[in-house]
Amino acid sequence: MKKMNMLSQIFIAFVLAIIFGIIFGPRMEIVQPLGDLFLRLIQFIVVPLVLASLITGITSLNNGKKLLSIGGKTISYFLVTTLVAIMIGLTVAFIISPGEGVNLELPTEETEPAEIPSMVDTILNFVPINPFESLTTGNIIQIVFIAIAFGIAIIAVGEKAKPLADFFEALAEVMYKLTGIIMKVAPIGIFGILAPIVGSYGLSILIPLLKIILAVAIACVLQLLVTYSIAVRAFGKMSPITFYRGIAPAAIFAFSTASSAGTLPITLKNTEENLGVSKEISSFVLALGATMNSDGAAIYQAVAVIFIAQFFNIELSFIQILTVIFMAVVVSIGAAGVPGAGLIMLTMVLQAVNLPLEGIAIIAAVDRILDMFRTSTNVIGDATAAVVVQQWEDKRKKPGNAKRVGNVS
Ligand code: ASP
Repeated sequence: MKKMNMLSQIFIAFVLAIIFGIIFGPRMEIVQPLGDLFLRLIQFIVVPLVLASLITGITSLNNGKKLLSIGGKTISYFLVTTLVAIMIGLTVAFIISPGEGVNLELPTEETEPAEIPSMVDTILNFVPINPFESLTTGNIIQIVFIAIAFGIAIIAVGEKAKPLADFFEALAEVMYKLTGIIMKVAPIGIFGILAPIVGSYGLSILIPLLKIILAVAIACVLQLLVTYSIAVRAFGKMSPITFYRGIAPAAIFAFSTASSAGTLPITLKNTEENLGVSKEISSFVLALGATMNSDGAAIYQAVAVIFIAQFFNIELSFIQILTVIFMAVVVSIGAAGVPGAGLIMLTMVLQAVNLPLEGIAIIAAVDRILDMFRTSTNVIGDATAAVVVQQWEDKRKKPGNAKRVGNVS
C-alpha cells in the first residue's frame, strides 16, 4: 500500500466505495464520520489557502502589465470554454429530451425557494462589506475579491508593502505543506464520503430520472473529451493522456466531494507537480477558476432548464434560449464552489425565463449525482486553463521553442 501511488490509492478507494455502497446500502452510513473528518480537514485549509495563494499569485506577477496579460488570457479562456460547454449542454439536452415522458409525483408541500438571488444581487454579493466577515464565514467568492484587491494594491504600493507580500507567500507555502499532509489520508476520506452516498441513493430513485443524469453526464464527458482535449493539445501543447493522468486525483476528489473550492488544494498540487505549471500561474488561474469558471455548472443549467421546460410541456422561445445561455455564463462566474451551489443558482435561471420553480424539486432528488459530474468538469476545466495559460506565457517569453514539462508519462 505504501508503495502504491496516490492515484491508484484514490482510484481503489473510489471503486470500493461504489461496491460497498451497492452491497451494504444505507448501512454504509457507518463510515460517514471518516468522510466528515476528511471534509473538515479540507475546509480547515481552504480559506487561508485561497487567500494566500491568490494574493501570492498576483504579487508574484509583480507588475500591472503582466497581471493584465495573464488575467486577460485567463478570463478569455474561461469565457470561451464556458460558452462551448453551454452549447454542448443545450445540444445534448435537445437530442436526449430528458424531460419528455417522465412521470413523477411532484412533492405536495411547497419547496421553499430558500434564497432566490437576482442577477444584480449575485453580482453585488461579490463585493464584501466586511472582509473579516467574509474570511470567518468562508465566503469564497468574496475572498477572491479581497485577494484581487489586496494583490493589486500590494503591487501598486511596491517596496513598502514587501513584508505583506512575503507574509502571504510564507502563508501559502505553509498551506501547501498542510495540503500534502492531509492528502495522505485522502483515499480513506473519499471512501468515507462516497460509500454512504452510493448506499443511500440506491437504484430505485435513479430510474425515472435516469435521462437527466445521462444527459448531464454525456454533456460533461463531451466537454472533457472534446473541448478540453483539443484545448490541452492545441493550446497547451500537452498530450490529453498526460493531462488526464496528472489531474485524475483532483477529478476523483471533486467527483466525491462535489466541491471545487474544497478540491482546490489538490488541483493546485496536481497541476504543479504532475502538469508542470508554475506556482505563479497555477495559484492565480486555479484560485480564480474555482469560483469564476464552472463549466460543469453551466452545462447543468442548460440541461436542467430544457428538462424542466419539457417536463411542464412549455415551449421555449429563441429569446428564452438566448437568456438561458447568458444566465448560464453568469452562473458559471457566480456559483460558489460548494456542493449544491448550482441548484440554488438554477432558481435564478428559471425565474429569468419564467419557468415553474417546482422544477427544482424534481431535480433536487438527484442533484447530488449531477453535482458530482459538474464539479469534476469544473475542476478539470480550471486545470486546462492553467496548462494553456502557462503555455501562452512560455511562448510569449521564448517565442518558438516553448514546450510542456509535465512529468507524468
Ligand atoms: N458543486 C459545484 C462546485 O463545487 C458547484 C455547483 O453546484 O454547480 O464546483
